[in-house]
Formats: sequence, C-alpha cells, structure tokens
Amino acid sequence: MKGFAMLGINKLGWIEKKNPVPGPYDAIVHPLAVSPCTSDIHTVFEGALGNRENMILGHEAVGEIAEVGSEVKDFKVGDRVIVPCTTPDWRSLEVQAGFQQHSNGMLAGWKFSNFKDGVFADYFHVNDADMNLAILPDEIPLESAVMMTDMMTTGFHGAELADIKMGSSVVVIGIGAVGLMGIAGSKLRGAGRIIGVGSRPVCVETAKFYGATDIVNYKNGDIVEQIMDLTHGKGVDRVIMAGGGAETLAQAVTMVKPGGVISNINYHGSGDTLPIPRVQWGCGMAHKTIRGGLCPGGRLRMEMLRDLVLYKRVDLSKLVTHVFDGAENIEKALLLMKNKPKDLIKSVVTF
Ligand code: NDP
Ligand code: ZN
Repeated sequence: MKGFAMLGINKLGWIEKKNPVPGPYDAIVHPLAVSPCTSDIHTVFEGALGNRENMILGHEAVGEIAEVGSEVKDFKVGDRVIVPCTTPDWRSLEVQAGFQQHSNGMLAGWKFSNFKDGVFADYFHVNDADMNLAILPDEIPLESAVMMTDMMTTGFHGAELADIKMGSSVVVIGIGAVGLMGIAGSKLRGAGRIIGVGSRPVCVETAKFYGATDIVNYKNGDIVEQIMDLTHGKGVDRVIMAGGGAETLAQAVTMVKPGGVISNINYHGSGDTLPIPRVQWGCGMAHKTIRGGLCPGGRLRMEMLRDLVLYKRVDLSKLVTHVFDGAENIEKALLLMKNKPKDLIKSVVTF
C-alpha cells in the first residue's frame, strides 16, 4: 500500500509499505476522509517527537472497515467508522486510574503518527476496535465527521479541564480549530462571557459563530491589558489555552482570578521550563489551578461527541474551509496547515 510519510525532519514523501495486519481485537480501516493537524506540522517541521523515519503521517480520519480480527464483536467489514486520534490500550492501569490518554506511558494513548503509522495511507491499523471505534451515521457528512476525531474532542476537553460553570467568564487563547471547539464546548457547558483571542478574520468570524461574545487581537497589544480593560480590572474565571507560546501561560496566570482555572490544550514545543509569574500566582497561594491534557479518545467519547453533532448541538462544518478530493492532495492540504493562509481553518481530503 501507499502512505504519505515523514521521511525525516523537514522531509515528506509517498512511500510503499506492507498492508497492516490486525491482531485478534483490532481492525484495518480504509480512510474516507482525513485531515492534517497542526500537530503533524510540529512533528515534521519542528521535530516535536524527535526524528521519525518513514513514518506515515496523520491521526484524524473517518473510514470504512476493511478487515477485523477474530475477536472483534461489534464491527464488521464495510462499517463506516469514526476513528479517534487517541486510541488507548484499555487493558492498562492508567485507564483504571482514569487517564486513558496515558495508557502504558505518558501520552502513549496517542499512537497514530507517533508510535505507529498514521492514517494518510490506503489502510491503517486500529488497536482494540470494539473499544476505540464508533459507527459513523450517514447523516453526518465526512468533512464534519473527521473534525470529531481530534479538534472537537480536544477543544471540548479544554472546556472540561477548565471546569466551566454556568455563567463562568472564559478567555480562550487561540481560535484556530482547537480553540474554536474550546469556545463551542464552553458555551455548551454554560459559560457566560467568552472572550476569544486571535487575529485572522476567518477565525474571528467563526469564533463569534461558536459563541464568543468578545474578541481580543493579540497583535493589537498585550492581551492581559486588553482583557483587564474588558473586565474592569477583575480578570476571568477560566482560561483555555489553545495557542500562543510559553509566555502565554504567564499571561493566563495573570488574567485568571484567584480561585480560577487555566486549562492548557496547547502544545508547548520549546524551552525546558514554562514560566509562572510568582506574584500573579499569589506567591503560590492564589488558588489558581493549572491543568493540561491530551484529548480523550475511545468509543464512548466518540459516541457522545457524535450525538452532539447528530442532534445539532454543534455544527462542525464551519471548521472546514478547504476540501480536496483524492489522496494526491494530502501534501497540499498538509502544507496549508503549515502556512495558515488567512482564509484557512482546517483542510480535509476525501477519498
Ligand atoms: P492554530 O495554529 O490554527 O491556532 C493557533 C491560534 O493561536 C490562532 O488563533 C493564533 O492566532 C493564536 N495565536 C498565535 N500566537 C498567539 C499569541 N502569541 N497569543 C495569543 N494567540 C496566539 O492551531 P490549532 O487550533 O490547530 O491547534 C492549537 C494547538 O493545539 C496546537 O499547539 C496543537 O498542536 C495543539 N493540539 C493539542 C491537542 C491535545 O490533545 N491537547 C490535539 C490537537 C492539537 P492567528 O492565527 O490569528 O495568528
Ligand atoms: Zn492532532
């Protein structure tokens, strides 16, 4: 089979590999739609995972089952499925402790284009099909469905980690696809005021669609000052970080009220440490909580997100700005995520 791969850091290309083989509990899936992720860009161009040679990229896909192992009970060849980007090992102690994302090691629930070949291929392997796949109903278009696999589960996890209460004031830093889903998730959880931080007009408009009540442009000056102005010096109850760098964490600590929560779903790619401003953190005594997490995967998560889409609580189509048909467009779609032209939120390739 063919796959679009990271040949090494900064090197991309098509490669040939043997078709994957399912273990007794696994499935082999043929993709129907895939989407490149900002994380693929971190992987290839920033060496986020260290060097990987000839690793097929991609972790966002919906597809059709091509083969199942002998012990798979609930799925059969031909079923259309949602494939979460996190596919945990469900028989692990970390799962019993409540952290499926870290099954068998920190961040190890994320396997595609990390520990094994990803989804930009004719076929890809899914461990523990009964526990990791969800049926994709015909009512949900492929382009929207593929947004559940990472963008929605990640952004919504941002809102979950932030522990949004009814009426909470929330800042969502970064309004790319992940932050936009942070806004949508915050609204569903009952947030009051939602301030989105970003600059590109297409994202600003979409942030308002998903529930942002105010927008702050980080290119127009210090975001702490802008948010303090908007909140009459009080700050906000919750901050979701889905963009920016190390210094953005310091800004988040500054703008959150005592007792507030900062929920980080951003990838921090450089430096040995992250800054926490001492005084703004109440010299350690301000009850300001900082949490960060990898997106949850698995079947139940996907079925629950699927219901939010099916019953029209969230319209994922607004995230997808560029759609290509045919695997030969994967490179083009991926490079769009690197260059982020002003009209882009997410690109999708259908097969
Ligand atoms: P995008 O690049 O599309 O969005 C980033 C956002 O951050 C944009 O709105 C950008 O604004 C804004 N931004 C950039 N610099 C600053 C700054 N200095 N201050 C404030 N805002 C800033 O990324 P995605 O939405 O695709 O992904 C967001 C992050 O989530 C990435 O780091 C990605 O790797 C990570 N991720 C994490 C996952 C998890 O499981 N935790 C899963 C998937 C992704 P503008 O574009 O207007 O300049
Ligand atoms: Zn991703």
